[in-house]
Amino acid sequence: MSKLEFDTVVLGAGIVGVCTAVHLQQRGRQVALIDRKPPGNETSFGNAGLIQREGVYPYAFPRGVGALLRYALNRSPDVRYHADAIFKVAPFLFQYWRNSDPARHAQIARSYATLIEHCVSEHHALAAAAGARDLLRPIGWMKVFRTPAVHDEEVRTAQRWHDEYGIQFDALDATRLQQAEPDLDRTLHGAVHYPQSDSVSDPNALVTAYAKHFEALGGRFFTGDAQTLREGWEVQTQEGTIAAASAVVALGPWSDRLSERLGYRLPLAVKRGYHMHYAAQAEARLNHPVLDAEGGYLLAPMARGIRLTTGAEIAFPDAPKTPVQLAMVEPVARTLFPLGEPLDAEPWMGRRPCTPDMMPIIGPARRHRGLWFAFGHAHHGLTLGPVTGRLIAEMMTGEETLVDPRPFSVERF
Ligand SMILES: Cc1cc2nc3c(=O)[nH]c(=O)nc-3n(C[C@H](O)[C@H](O)[C@H](O)COP(=O)(O)OP(=O)(O)OC[C@H]3O[C@@H](n4cnc5c(N)ncnc54)[C@H](O)[C@@H]3O)c2cc1C
Repeated sequence: MSKLEFDTVVLGAGIVGVCTAVHLQQRGRQVALIDRKPPGNETSFGNAGLIQREGVYPYAFPRGVGALLRYALNRSPDVRYHADAIFKVAPFLFQYWRNSDPARHAQIARSYATLIEHCVSEHHALAAAAGARDLLRPIGWMKVFRTPAVHDEEVRTAQRWHDEYGIQFDALDATRLQQAEPDLDRTLHGAVHYPQSDSVSDPNALVTAYAKHFEALGGRFFTGDAQTLREGWEVQTQEGTIAAASAVVALGPWSDRLSERLGYRLPLAVKRGYHMHYAAQAEARLNHPVLDAEGGYLLAPMARGIRLTTGAEIAFPDAPKTPVQLAMVEPVARTLFPLGEPLDAEPWMGRRPCTPDMMPIIGPARRHRGLWFAFGHAHHGLTLGPVTGRLIAEMMTGEETLVDPRPFSVERF
């Protein structure tokens, strides 16, 4: 079979790979997008759907002794671990913990915020071009609180983000929270609303719409195994060999399997997470995504129903599902909002692809001509997909870049 020639092959059709493919194709590159599944069917399928404009500080490792002890006991609903994985992941966790030191975290935020600043506007531009604006809801999202002390602490944090980065927030007391969300538990103390963030009613539909837009621009999607990539660059697909001058690795939590084979030992780990959909009882309505900050889970109104998503599970990526956190938080969530029957036969599980400094790897690979990396977006891959796609396409085509790409270079590892 003859080879199919392209300028660039993008490996992985999650939100990051699809956005990269669109941005390159828009700039006149002939792009082949490869995945073993249809676009948007792994991590980008099941997230909480938040486009987190307020997320200038990436999620840090808890530093307080109380929190560390609580996590060590492994009974916390927000973070759990598999004992057999903890020794393998320990070096990663140690680096993550060090980078979460307040001064270092603030320094990381200064770089990270340059990406976050553009997350909503870049989604809007892409969704408008793809005819998918109706999937983005400009309603923000809320953290709700049961105790005054935790509420006050979050208001102080939000005020700091406002002072440092202009992040808007609204501190709601119990009365205003009940007006905004009449069907939530009436004993809640209050909430913080982040109005500049968008939320997506169906993350898979959004990635699918962006992928269709890519094809409408002339790009081609192929089913194939990215692990067949050979220097040159060539990759095997169901429709034959794809050859291209450049290759972008955007395999989310599987990226290190390919990068390691190419000689890059990168300190990546995954934080697994689960979701399950529920009907709402009777006439009950949830107007915003709502994080129960003290309960360690999030409820988001989605096209399919109310999606309950869990916190982080530290485990081997391929270990069987252990939806313990889901089982722990479901009864609590039922007291927060009148959930009806489950709508899924079994819990969905995804893997957040994480680096120890909480920032993605975006840019050229140092030892191979034409090889590029775009992965490690952790809790914010949906948020940062379009910005990442634009940044990497600008770098690859020699354009002036929207933000300084140097903090995201693989060289830092
Ligand atoms: C419970 C949960 C809630 C979350 N909530 C949010 C949120 O509200 N907002 C937010 O911004 N982020 C959220 N995230 C994180 C976000 O979902 C991820 O950061 C993002 O989806 C990562 O996108 P990606 O394109 O890098 O990876 P993926 O979506 O996993 O894409 C990688 C692709 O590579 C493909 N692939 C892998 N190996 C191969 C191979 N050998 N050959 C071919 N193809 C291959 C896969 O099939 C997949 O399609 C959440 C994550 C979880 C788990």
